[in-house]
Amino acid sequence: MSVRILIVEDNATNLDLMTYLLRSFGYSTSSAQDGLAGLEAAKTGQYDLILTDILMPRLDGFEFAHRLKGEPGLARTPLVAVTALAMTGDRERILASGFDGYISKPIEPQAFKAQIESLLSERDRGKSSDHR
Ligand code: MN
Repeated sequence: MSVRILIVEDNATNLDLMTYLLRSFGYSTSSAQDGLAGLEAAKTGQYDLILTDILMPRLDGFEFAHRLKGEPGLARTPLVAVTALAMTGDRERILASGFDGYISKPIEPQAFKAQIESLLSERDRGKSSDHR
């Protein structure tokens, strides 16, 4: 069964790039263009991984993470921030806000592939334990 990834991103260029790359790596993708639409998509689909931008209209990535982690059926889905916010404090805030990982923009195809594979294998390891 194909791995399903939800991409929440308001910038069409970034969304198209991530969609293109993830599909070329063999994953299925769906997308939403703001946090509220992302939350609805997450509730109605079964995803193995959710990637989200931080700066978005209607609901930003932090609030999206907060609401997602408050949903019993979604709290365990790995959630990864994809953002150009690069300061150390931003990274710490992201990891303190419920995100399971962080990928920096601009997206570099080779590094992106390795990061996604690593996040998915962490999730597979986490399935057998109950530490979260
Ligand atoms: Mn954005």
